[in-house]
Amino acid sequence: MGTLIQNGTVVSSDRSQLLDVLMEGEKIAKVGPGLDIAGHTVVDATGLLVMPGGIDVHTHLDMPFGGTTSADDYTTGTQAAAVGGTTTVIDFALQSQGHTMKEALATWLKKSDNKACVDFSLHMAVTDLGPGDGSQGLREMEEMLAAGISSFKLFMAYPGVLMIDDGLMFKVMQKAAALNALCCIHAENGSAIDIVVAQMIAEGKTAPHYHALSRSPKAEAEATHRAIALADMAGAAVYIVHLSNEYALDELKFMQARGAKALAETCTQYLVLSLEDQMPGKSWEEAKFVFTPPLREKRHQAPLWKALVEGSLSVVSTDHCPFRFADQKELGRGNFTKIPNGGPGIENRLQILWHFGVNAGRITQEKFVELCCTAPARIFGMGKQKGTIAPGLDADILLWDPKAEYTISAATQCMATDYSMFEGWKVQGNAAKVFSRGELVVDNTVQPGKFLGATGRGRFVRREANAGGFA
Ligand SMILES: [Zn+2]
Repeated sequence: MGTLIQNGTVVSSDRSQLLDVLMEGEKIAKVGPGLDIAGHTVVDATGLLVMPGGIDVHTHLDMPFGGTTSADDYTTGTQAAAVGGTTTVIDFALQSQGHTMKEALATWLKKSDNKACVDFSLHMAVTDLGPGDGSQGLREMEEMLAAGISSFKLFMAYPGVLMIDDGLMFKVMQKAAALNALCCIHAENGSAIDIVVAQMIAEGKTAPHYHALSRSPKAEAEATHRAIALADMAGAAVYIVHLSNEYALDELKFMQARGAKALAETCTQYLVLSLEDQMPGKSWEEAKFVFTPPLREKRHQAPLWKALVEGSLSVVSTDHCPFRFADQKELGRGNFTKIPNGGPGIENRLQILWHFGVNAGRITQEKFVELCCTAPARIFGMGKQKGTIAPGLDADILLWDPKAEYTISAATQCMATDYSMFEGWKVQGNAAKVFSRGELVVDNTVQPGKFLGATGRGRFVRREANAGGFA
């Protein structure tokens, strides 16, 4: 006795076909035309697209930042993900300087325990290798791998808090190369940016707009090049997170052409929001769009879309890091350096990418699946469990209604913020039904915006080390 999804069009990263999908227990049992319905519950997917559940590889749930904590915890964050069609997230465990990675892992597993509603995994953000030559930290990387964490995040920004120097970064990259692990890099030149920031504050340029101006595309491009060059020297695979502009993209493409094992994502916001439209420098409201890297001039958007089509950018994630406008963003009124960095996006990724990507003719529906589901699973070492509709994989399935019209608004969203970055935007294309390991957890056609599963049902996903798919 299983659940049979009938009459839908199954979309994979390379084709779309009229096929039925049989789910049994938590797994996909069969995929094929005209499957026998005897003994099964039938879900009619006529007019719908049947896709793998979305995978968002860049989220920050329950994350401390600048004296506050991101507004979504593992419960609201993963429920919002599910309502938007995303069934797996990879969040970040942040090692504090002076503490071990094991402590960070324990802290983040506790945050998610009995709270996660869809499956999740963690990257380990390395900020400290311990005393002396760092051998203690490098050994800990092996322990992380044994625990199913196969990607390590390194910050080239936020000096004194998260930033590491090039030597430490290179050591981690050498170790990652030996372990077949993937290095994820926040690429911005934090030291140079901090000087510009101090100069701006001294000149009284304290509004949110100046946050964006203080972190130039060139600072991102410089660090992007340096990160990939160092990884290439170390023989490591590298994944640039939240690549936001054409200059950084040029550095990525240059190094890819030279054979570096370099991948990158961009995020929804860089594709559709801009400095001109959202942050013209007129009001405090612009604090809603203070995140890092900042919004760029509109002219950077077209090259990012083109890179998604051509393949130099592999993934679209959100960098979901929500803070409420009323009381959290408020911490930085009068001083942009105190504005908690981040925006809410986990719930809207698929809607935005579908509407502005597929509907606008920029990407195909197959590319949409590749960018949002299949590539994230493959690159991050969970392609055997997630990201594709095939027998034996987890039954994480999204029934997508390409005709559904939806108006994005903070008033109806599941995310715990008091604003939306896309307030009032009308999009066409939305999640109709969402299955997580075979269980119907969202039915937007009957109970829109409601998570139907039990809180805490989400499981930690152990990922294998495959050097971002290069191995
Ligand atoms: Zn981030």
